Amino acid sequence: MSTIFSKIINKEIPADIVYESENVLAFKDIKPQAPVHLLIIPKIEIPKVTDLNGSEHSLLLGEMLDTANNIAKEMGIADDGFRLVFNCGYNGGQEVYHLHLHLLGGRKMNWPPG
Ligand code: 5GP
Repeated sequence: MSTIFSKIINKEIPADIVYESENVLAFKDIKPQAPVHLLIIPKIEIPKVTDLNGSEHSLLLGEMLDTANNIAKEMGIADDGFRLVFNCGYNGGQEVYHLHLHLLGGRKMNWPPG
């Protein structure tokens, strides 16, 4: 089932897009939890991490990680470090069922997470 992220991909609703390729989109989270909080998503509809399999999605996942690294470097948060998060399902705290990688940085992150 399509989510609000499909509407962002299709430019039906606005988002602060920082990077776009044929396969992935990166945009600012509407409710940032850190000075830098971006979401990196595939353009195809994959609901969550458990819908991934390595043989089919390895290139896509690689591009998502490259995108996160490149943005972190461009935004000047790579040297101090950052956090990448996939929330998966109910216990993982996932709210939007379109796969997304959170890129959080610009402050010291806490551990353990809430
Ligand atoms: P989840 O909890 O599913 O891992 O994270 C979903 C994220 O999407 C949340 O951090 C939330 O703030 C963000 N989000 C939800 N709706 C929108 C939206 O319409 N636009 C943007 N830019 N972010 C959204």
